[in-house]
Amino acid sequence: MKYAYIALGSNIGDKAAHLRAAVAHLRALPSVHDVQASSIYETVPVGYLNQDLFYNMVVAIQTTDAADVLLGRLQEIEQLEGRKRLFKNGPRTLDLDILLYAEEQIDLEGLTVPHPRMQERAFVLAPLRELAAEQIVPGLGQSVEQLYEQLPESERNGVRQLGGLLEAEEQ
Ligand code: ADP
Ligand code: MG
Repeated sequence: MKYAYIALGSNIGDKAAHLRAAVAHLRALPSVHDVQASSIYETVPVGYLNQDLFYNMVVAIQTTDAADVLLGRLQEIEQLEGRKRLFKNGPRTLDLDILLYAEEQIDLEGLTVPHPRMQERAFVLAPLRELAAEQIVPGLGQSVEQLYEQLPESERNGVRQLGGLLEAEEQ
C-alpha cells in the first residue's frame, strides 16, 4: 500500500458538487482506502485570468495502485464529471492531479511526480498543508509547510478557505 496526495480543482457549474462527486468516486474505488479531505478553498485562476474563480482541495489516500494506474482512474473520474479539455489552464469542470506518490520521483511521458508546479501554487499548498505539513517533497528537500511559507504574499492572498465539503456548498 502506498500513500498519495491528489489535488482537485473545478471552476465550471456547481463547483462544490463536482468536488464532492470526485471524493465519492475515489472512496468507491476498491484500490483506494482511507480517503481524507482538506477544506475547500476558493482561488483566483492562475495563467488565464478571464475565467471564474476555482474551488480547490486536496485529498490524502492509501492505494494499492501503481502511480500510472492511479492516474488512469483519476482521468476516468474527470470524464465521468463531464470534463472537456478546452485549452491549457482554461476552465474545467474537474481536474485531478497527483501531487505526491509516496516518496517517489516519477518521470514518465504523461506523468511527472511530484507535480512539477506544486511549489508555486497556494491553491495546492494551502490545502495540502492541512493534511501533510511536515511531508518532505522529494527532489525539493523541503516540507510542505516550508514551501508554503516561501510563497509570495500575493500568491497566498489569492486563496480563501471556505470550509469542508458540505459547508462550502452554501457559500
Ligand atoms: P493541467 O496541467 O492543468 O492539470 P490537464 O489536466 O489537461 O492539465 O493535464 C495534462 C496532462 O498532464 C495529462 O494528460 C497528464 O498525462 C499529465 N500529467 C503529468 N503529470 C501529472 C500528474 N502528476 N498528475 C496529473 N496529470 C499529470
Ligand atoms: Mg490535470
